Amino acid sequence: MTRAYNFSAGPAALPEPVLRRAQAEMLEWGKARAGVMEISHRGKDFIALAQKSEQDLRTLMAIPANYKVLFLQGGATQHFAQIPMNFARRGQIADYIVTGHWGEKAAKEAKSLVDVRIAASSEGGKFTAIPPRALWHLDADAAYVHYTPNETIHGVEFHDVPDVGDLPLIADMSSDILSAPVDVSKFGIIYAGAQKNIGASGLVVMIVREDLLARCPKDIPKIFNYAEHAANESMLNTPNTFGWYLASLVFEWLLEQGGVAAIDARNRAKADLLYGYIDNSGFYKNPVEKSARSRMNVPFTLPREELDAAFLKEAESHGLMALKGHRAVGGMRASIYNAMPLQGVQALVDFMKDFAARNG
Ligand SMILES: *Cc1c(COP(=O)(O)O)cnc(C)c1O
Repeated sequence: MTRAYNFSAGPAALPEPVLRRAQAEMLEWGKARAGVMEISHRGKDFIALAQKSEQDLRTLMAIPANYKVLFLQGGATQHFAQIPMNFARRGQIADYIVTGHWGEKAAKEAKSLVDVRIAASSEGGKFTAIPPRALWHLDADAAYVHYTPNETIHGVEFHDVPDVGDLPLIADMSSDILSAPVDVSKFGIIYAGAQKNIGASGLVVMIVREDLLARCPKDIPKIFNYAEHAANESMLNTPNTFGWYLASLVFEWLLEQGGVAAIDARNRAKADLLYGYIDNSGFYKNPVEKSARSRMNVPFTLPREELDAAFLKEAESHGLMALKGHRAVGGMRASIYNAMPLQGVQALVDFMKDFAARNG
């Protein structure tokens, strides 16, 4: 068997050079005379890795000095709950913008901790568009505004950062972090599970404006308190050291590619190729409004559902895997994160053309 082009939504494909390096360093990492997951997180070697990875991420995203970078655990889902626990008082209003499955889930998880208000939602249109900013009903006293810049399942992406005035803007960037340049200073908090664009599941990267950490209540357990994690350099307890190491390799790989601006150009070319073909095919369809289409996750349907199984089976035999869409949307989904090369998308389009010609 050979390694396929992997269109999985997450955990997703990692850059091949990163995997090869991790493989080569598995038994002996640097001068440690042991693998990176076998050494103390408090030793100088691992501390150096932690510091360099943070510095590389700061370079990649141009993170201002008044933001802390945390390397946490629990997946994005745990932070759906931990964010209201830390940044709102019990019963305070928090505004949620819901443009797909993950935003909806974040709002539901927050409900037992804050007064969740859905300030805007595109559920009525089956999450195929972004509600215009002018129609959002933000509360001036809200603790924060939470949104999902890229909805991984519905394939809906914001292409600019919404202006929410002085309210802290919190973004679940799990599926689009590091895919294009963003102005971090427009956010209160950016957080992301690692398994799409950063590395392995089980690691969460959080970028948090320092003044917000003053809100973290003292009466919650320390392990849930972001201010404690920040004060302890993300080493309040044993961090996910192997996940952190993989993230550090991905950051180095991104810098070698020319940084986020270069990867953005590549991502645009990939998305343009795929959407361009889908729109002109007269066979496949993507339901999302053009201005809100995701560059990372491209859902598409075939003209008849009966063709789905054959499409998936034949795609696999062509070395194209994990194209099955999420059950909430149906059809197919091609996730084309940073690690997917243009050749992979070209191979997919070539196969789609051939399949359409034989089944049209
Ligand atoms: C994958 C994903 C999640 C869930 O991440 P877990 O690590 O499984 O908790 C949350 N939000 C978005 C946008 C995602 O893509």
